[in-house]
Amino acid sequence: MVDLKTQYLNIKEEIDEAVLSCIASTEFINGTKVKEFQQHLETYLDVKHVIPCANGTDALQIALMALGLQPGDEVIVPTFTYVATAEVIALLHLKPVMVDVYPDTFNISLEHCERVITPKTKAIVPVHLFGQSADMERILSFAEKHQLYVIEDTAQAIGADYFFKDGTTKKVGTIGDIGSTSFFPSKNLGCYGDGGALFTNDDNYAEILRMVANHGQKRKYYHSVVGVNSRLDTLQAAILDVKLKYLDTYAKNRQNVAAAYDAAFKDIDGIEIPFRSPFSTHVFHQYTLQLPIGARADFQRFMHERKIPTMIYYPLPLYEQEAFKDPNINPVDFPVTNELCQRVISLPIHTEMKSQTLDYICSAVLNFFGK
Ligand SMILES: *Cc1c(COP(=O)(O)O)cnc(C)c1O
Repeated sequence: MVDLKTQYLNIKEEIDEAVLSCIASTEFINGTKVKEFQQHLETYLDVKHVIPCANGTDALQIALMALGLQPGDEVIVPTFTYVATAEVIALLHLKPVMVDVYPDTFNISLEHCERVITPKTKAIVPVHLFGQSADMERILSFAEKHQLYVIEDTAQAIGADYFFKDGTTKKVGTIGDIGSTSFFPSKNLGCYGDGGALFTNDDNYAEILRMVANHGQKRKYYHSVVGVNSRLDTLQAAILDVKLKYLDTYAKNRQNVAAAYDAAFKDIDGIEIPFRSPFSTHVFHQYTLQLPIGARADFQRFMHERKIPTMIYYPLPLYEQEAFKDPNINPVDFPVTNELCQRVISLPIHTEMKSQTLDYICSAVLNFFGK
């Protein structure tokens, strides 16, 4: 699905130098590179504070902890996403309230959000799924109307731009109260292990987020709140600081692959190519097709026989996962997610795709559909 090896080889000298100098410095924890990467990412995102942490799941958890939510408080999340988004909510004894998504962007449905509001609803976690922003302007006004915190899960969309109606542009993750992201190796900005970060423009949140991520302490050995231990390794920061310079080029490469796929597949009856939102760029963490219902297993086998990997993100809605089963949930409330889980399939997309590989994949897809 990705080609991290070629990507490394293309920037090997810079990466090796960054890693070796980090080892030579022996500043493995909270070394200068962590601060440098943090500042470079703040500049790139045009956000006041970046708080590095150990992974994207921790980032979500730290955000929820920092907002001081109380057990039983309800947090709205899309049911068509990666499990981490809902997991941390449940882990903190908050209640994940799942909602359906839009059939075009695959992002959180505001109409469904309106239907699940209760006096206990305290936050909403939009996920910018597959590399494209959720409808942030509407999410912000919904949140304001109901007094909710907004935590953006930006794990799949770092670098994407959101366009406001007044013409201003912001990077996703910097629009709500707090943004979270993941530097998992296959994410758009990936390190060589685990990593994550939080973003905020609010000085108070930044201070609390830093404190929660660092054992609840502001001063060493004085603990004001119960926190966690969640740090970005200096080695990972050094790698990320190199890769950040290439993030826009990498996005462009992914967009080129997507454009070639689009052109090849746009006339195939019964399949849908990814929608392009008018209010967001698409950084194509995934290139996800919707196949006719019933065709997917054959399609996957056909591709597998030709040594083309495909993945299903996601085969099961979160509300149907055993961990989140709730007798009060009614499957008819999630018609879009239910259909997507039967139809979606993601094709290989990455920063190093060669044109022969791309042609090979396109021909295989066309062949499957008899073209
Ligand atoms: C990858 C991912 C996460 C979790 O990130 P980790 O670094 O693996 O903990 C959270 N949310 C979404 C939407 C993701 O894709």
